[in-house]
Amino acid sequence: MTKQRKNKYDAIVVGAGISGILSTLALSKEGKKVLIIEKNNIIGGNCRTYENSGYHVDTGPHAITELTQGPLKQLINDYFTVVPRFFPIGNYFVRDKNKLQEFPLTLIQLAKFDILPKRERLIMSSAMIDAVASFSLNKGALDKSIYEFMKKYKPAKKTLQIIDTISYFLSGRSMKETPTWRILGGSGYINENIKGKKNHLKTLIKFTKNDYSSQGYPLGGIQSITDCAVNSIPKNNTTFNLNEETISLIVENNVIKGVRTDKDVYYSDFVIYSGFMKNLPNLTKELTEDYTKELAKLHQTKSLTIWLGLKKKLQELSYIGSEIYFSGNTPYWAIPVSNLDAHLAPKNKQLVGFSTIMKEDDQEDKINELRQTIFTAIPNIKKNIELEHIQITIPEKAAVSTGVKFPSPKSPIKNLYLVGTDTDMRSMGITRASYSVIEALKFMKEDEVI
Ligand SMILES: Cc1cc2nc3c(=O)[nH]c(=O)nc-3n(C[C@H](O)[C@H](O)[C@H](O)COP(=O)(O)OP(=O)(O)OC[C@H]3O[C@@H](n4cnc5c(N)ncnc54)[C@H](O)[C@@H]3O)c2cc1C
Repeated sequence: MTKQRKNKYDAIVVGAGISGILSTLALSKEGKKVLIIEKNNIIGGNCRTYENSGYHVDTGPHAITELTQGPLKQLINDYFTVVPRFFPIGNYFVRDKNKLQEFPLTLIQLAKFDILPKRERLIMSSAMIDAVASFSLNKGALDKSIYEFMKKYKPAKKTLQIIDTISYFLSGRSMKETPTWRILGGSGYINENIKGKKNHLKTLIKFTKNDYSSQGYPLGGIQSITDCAVNSIPKNNTTFNLNEETISLIVENNVIKGVRTDKDVYYSDFVIYSGFMKNLPNLTKELTEDYTKELAKLHQTKSLTIWLGLKKKLQELSYIGSEIYFSGNTPYWAIPVSNLDAHLAPKNKQLVGFSTIMKEDDQEDKINELRQTIFTAIPNIKKNIELEHIQITIPEKAAVSTGVKFPSPKSPIKNLYLVGTDTDMRSMGITRASYSVIEALKFMKEDEVI
């Protein structure tokens, strides 16, 4: 009894990645006494920046989407007392034969995108208009894969290569597994929150005028989002337990009562779980077989990032924005982050992150392949490298792919809520994590736990 009172909280949050931290912040600002439990000895999960030989590398290259009126902005407005500052992300470029071209976002830009032959550009324009019309008329029309959708246009190999690369970067899966709506949503053409005619009109406008003005990169690196959230948490009613793993959930009569860790037992009125949903059945036997089977279908994707610290600033990387390179076997997405925030690299030097998806387990081969691709794409880079730092990470806890349903933030166990990038399909990464937190908070309000 004494123990139960000593270890009793209003809420327990499992995991101190950005979704766990945002949940903790919101709940503590709602006046709740919160315990947050993290198995590692660091806070932030995939939303971190750390120092390496004078350079400050993020856990993967990041561009934060929907900043003007999206879910992160809403959480910042509602709960942050220390606010991160964002730089405009700049433009997206495609590198081809050592030349950069703006990634085509409007039909006019697409018409001028001479990396593809004219016939292919016409095909892409027709497909885009067709897709939006289909989406407006029938919600489920774009559930089939982008490959299935494009097949009837008989696109050339190079067009398919571009579509496949974009699919991997937007969903973590190939064009054969990525639903068509994901491509349109991820490129900002359709608003995944709105369906029907309203969306149709908005999209048609975007075909003539679209940009990346709602995307940004935080001053000080991606860690500053985590730091600002942590520094906004009222200290008097929140406890951080690091280096402690939650090993099971305490559930009685289908109601959550607390958690058991590798060190202790804690009780609470409700629990927010932000680890991998796929792992949830390892923490409790109370889930139905059907629910467990659905969770098992969630795919994760591994990404490989090579950060390069360069002795001097290269002309080839002098732009503000990021680039996609899709020629060869290993396409990459790269951001020279020190162009956005000079403090991330030592004076007069440059830091750039190159990221790709790992399709197979052969890590050494993939690292070498990405290195070779970088040297082919930007030959001048090799002799200027003074730091190489490699990261292998899981960017999203579940990839949006055809035939896969994400679990809702409201779990089948009463007062257990689920947050993170495998509980909400909208947008990507930190924006998706923020959507999941907002959705979970809505359920908590409905259930009157907050
Ligand atoms: C290469 C790369 C590029 C990316 N690019 C972008 C981008 O451009 N834009 C964008 O918005 N996002 C991007 N992201 C994704 C973004 O960083 C992640 O989606 C986000 O940080 C995930 O946050 P999370 O809290 O949901 O999960 P995580 O960061 O995985 O946090 C979960 C935390 O829970 C802890 N945990 C799990 N289980 C337990 C347990 N049983 N007990 C205790 N603790 C536990 C883990 O240790 C971890 O700290 C990128 C990520 C990578 C790796």
